[in-house]
Amino acid sequence: MPLTSEQLAFDQQHIWHPYSSMINPPPMVPVESASGVRIRLSDGRELIDGMASWWSVIHGYNHPSLNAAAHAQIDRVAHVMFGGLTHEPAIELSRKLVQMTPAGLDRVFLADSGSVAVEVAMKMAIQYWHARGKPGKHKLVALQNGYHGDTFGAMSVCDPVTGMHELFSGVLAQQVHIPRPATRFGQPLIDGDCDALEQTLREHGDEIAALIVEPIVQGAGGMYFYSPEWLKQARILCDRYEVLLIADEIATGFGRSGKLFACEHAGISPDILCLGKALTGGYMTLSATLTTAHIGETISAGGAGCFMHGPTFMGNPLACAVANASLTLLQEQDWQAEVSRIETRLTASLSPAASLSGVADVRVLGAIGVIELHEAVSLASVQPLFVEQGIWVRPFGKLVYVMPPYVMSNADLDTLCSGIIQVLNALEG
Ligand SMILES: *Cc1c(COP(=O)(O)O)cnc(C)c1O
Repeated sequence: MPLTSEQLAFDQQHIWHPYSSMINPPPMVPVESASGVRIRLSDGRELIDGMASWWSVIHGYNHPSLNAAAHAQIDRVAHVMFGGLTHEPAIELSRKLVQMTPAGLDRVFLADSGSVAVEVAMKMAIQYWHARGKPGKHKLVALQNGYHGDTFGAMSVCDPVTGMHELFSGVLAQQVHIPRPATRFGQPLIDGDCDALEQTLREHGDEIAALIVEPIVQGAGGMYFYSPEWLKQARILCDRYEVLLIADEIATGFGRSGKLFACEHAGISPDILCLGKALTGGYMTLSATLTTAHIGETISAGGAGCFMHGPTFMGNPLACAVANASLTLLQEQDWQAEVSRIETRLTASLSPAASLSGVADVRVLGAIGVIELHEAVSLASVQPLFVEQGIWVRPFGKLVYVMPPYVMSNADLDTLCSGIIQVLNALEG
């Protein structure tokens, strides 16, 4: 049944969508269902989905084994509190995460969303130093152009310009922001590229709890791919100046960058790891923050005697059961071959964009393709053009990018990319 005009009007008048206006809301595209890589609209049209619903739907929509896991679990128990109670879905999920993540991360905190996973990571780092008798170490170092979520703690470590710091100044915690690595992925490390980090840690180490980074791929803050060598050095510097390293792999986790976790490009383990987005294959919200036994035990030996966090829906069985099915699927498939196939295909089919005069850069890493423009595009004018091409792409600012489900065929990848290029071409007139 297509949505009625009354329903759509209600949506416009009463419902906030992400970063949307209540005065002049843009038209919304009504969805009927979705399957594989296709989103079916209520008027019957189908769109090839280039966004994987913001990095999360890695196996495609309406997947039989994820559906089966959800059905089986909902008939047992959809939710039960995690305080004092436990269950198989949470245990088996945590076991998988401990086993598949970089070495040493074997204490698991399950939370509700990516932003909360970041809050949890920040609190872990601060509580750790508190427990070690260094309560002055409570600031974070973060990279410019970073994105870590929309809650207050997470916002404080987002890029100070695009991350709404001005709007919330006086409310946000004051953190230390340093330039992002200048060395791009695949380039030899530029001389002095780690100097800002080293100087900050050397001079302010006694007030810094942790460095937080999106390893290798900065997502929503700029779709920027940087050098694994920089990350390797950052790990060394954090150890040297006694600062924890938090890796926010909420976007990059589970194969997106070509490695299961982006930290693997640098061969490092962080002290704290944040996961989310693709964790449930995009079925529902769930996140995890992992840390080491040492940090877990130090926090627990501190004054509080425990880690001070415990959300209502912690360890939600339904979400954990679907996450288990998603990770099983990932491990049973040759996901690396699929991601590398997509990387090859995106590289070839996006390359013609480089010759457009409005295009500043085209780059691909793993199953992420980015076209960076000279000028920001108007979402309101460009969104309908993509829909007309039968593709779902949602640019922000100067960035038109795709991160398709890993199951997207080469033919669909070609349609997606040529659709984008046609739209950009049309914009140039
Ligand atoms: C999306 C994202 C977050 C926030 O996750 P939510 O589930 O939207 O709260 C945090 N960090 C990174 C790197 C992300 O991409």
